[in-house]
Amino acid sequence: MSKPKILILGGGYGGIMSAVRLQKELGSDEAEITLVNKHNYHYQTTWLHENAAGTLHHDKTRIMIDNIIDMNKVNFVQDTVKEIKKDEKLVILDNQELTYDYLIIALGSDPETFGIQGLKENAFSIRSINSVRKIREHIDYSFARYNNEGQPDELITIVVGGAGFTGIEFVGELADRVPELCREYDIPREKVRIVNIEAAPTVLPGFDEELVEYAINNLERRGVEFLVSTPIKECNEDGVILANGEEIKAATIVWTGGVRGNHLVEEAGFETMRGRVKVDKDLRMPGFDYIFVAGDCALIIDEEANRPYPPTAQIAIQQAYTIGRNIKALMNGGKLEEFKPDIKGTVASLGKGEAIGKVGNKKLFGATASAMKKVIDNRYLFLLGGVPMVIKKGKLKLF
Ligand code: FAD
Ligand code: NAD
Repeated sequence: MSKPKILILGGGYGGIMSAVRLQKELGSDEAEITLVNKHNYHYQTTWLHENAAGTLHHDKTRIMIDNIIDMNKVNFVQDTVKEIKKDEKLVILDNQELTYDYLIIALGSDPETFGIQGLKENAFSIRSINSVRKIREHIDYSFARYNNEGQPDELITIVVGGAGFTGIEFVGELADRVPELCREYDIPREKVRIVNIEAAPTVLPGFDEELVEYAINNLERRGVEFLVSTPIKECNEDGVILANGEEIKAATIVWTGGVRGNHLVEEAGFETMRGRVKVDKDLRMPGFDYIFVAGDCALIIDEEANRPYPPTAQIAIQQAYTIGRNIKALMNGGKLEEFKPDIKGTVASLGKGEAIGKVGNKKLFGATASAMKKVIDNRYLFLLGGVPMVIKKGKLKLF
């Protein structure tokens, strides 16, 4: 009898961790496991803002897939998913087609642009190693042009649209990077603008007020400007136009205004909300007993708060454990478990040695929060590849 085929789409937190868990849960004679990913490396999306600002090299953020998975147990296919044909149990890639008995969709997210005119065409977003290399190079080149082209202010103005966690973490890194760039390109620091624009009345809407105030004070002291209650209405080659009519000219615009599930899920004809599938409690696609969804493509409800959990790496990693066990249970006729996220807290970095966080009921600030963030990052690497992975890729200097 042929072995059941398990196909995993996407090698981010949800996908790579599903592969790692399945290779542990199942013997190689029990199933044929295939992982498809665009690149031959896994990247830590949660570090990309550092690569984008140029405070951390992207090689630190990516890990070759053959360093993570056991290639004797998991077939790795480096290719791009083009289409999921749900009724034919078929997935179309750029270079081949794959069939499956069980499917795990873990293709991450796309930027949510809310139909804002010109955003797709004129703003960068922090999505992948390729996208952040471009941002870093673009900022560097804009600063290099400044003294050659009559010192126009817009070349050294960086607009960050959206002050959620991604926006805040990114401006924190920029606040560290800009002084270095100023030294390198002979530009007075006070000429450079880092402007973080937020539609809501406060940055980090919904987060703890005391921690938000700490973040704002810290970042303003380091030269970040915040504009709140000022939605971006339009984006063009020259900059952004706000809902109040104000125009800010900037050579660099980075959109951090939110995410939606990968477009391929919606295009496959699954029912979605902002591109995300409201999965069953056991993480299966409603109506499809053999399809699981993990990470930013999945929507799960926080029943206490009666709203969706914000999509995070923390949840994607935990989902992979449940999916691993549930696929094993399905294959063996066992009972499937319900997924209950164990939210340990939220910690957001504000640059080197600075962060804010809430872990349980405890609020963390400054160096302590920053050390906690590195512990969280190192813990993930440990789950992925044990102590050797932590030593190779970890953030070992906590303070
Ligand atoms: P991803 O990790 O994005 O992985 C998706 C994978 O699919 C990628 O490897 C991609 O290459 C691959 N892929 C996409 N399309 C295709 C295709 N067509 N064909 C083949 N492969 C494809 N969350 C936290 O919990 N803590 C944090 O501190 C945190 N910090 C963040 C910082 C930043 C800057 C950002 C942007 C996000 C942060 N998040 C954080 C959120 C977190 O990164 C996401 O929730 C998490 O990455 C979701 O995991 P995923 O597996 O769904 O997607
Ligand atoms: P988000 O949705 O959390 O934040 C986007 C922000 O952009 C919001 O504050 C929103 O009000 C604002 N915005 C939307 N439209 C706007 C407009 N037209 N003009 C100006 N501002 C506008 O998105 P994100 O920050 O990209 O985060 C995505 C997910 O990743 C979230 O679930 C987040 O919790 C998670 N994340 C977590 C961390 C962490 O835990 N340290 C870090 C980054 C991201």
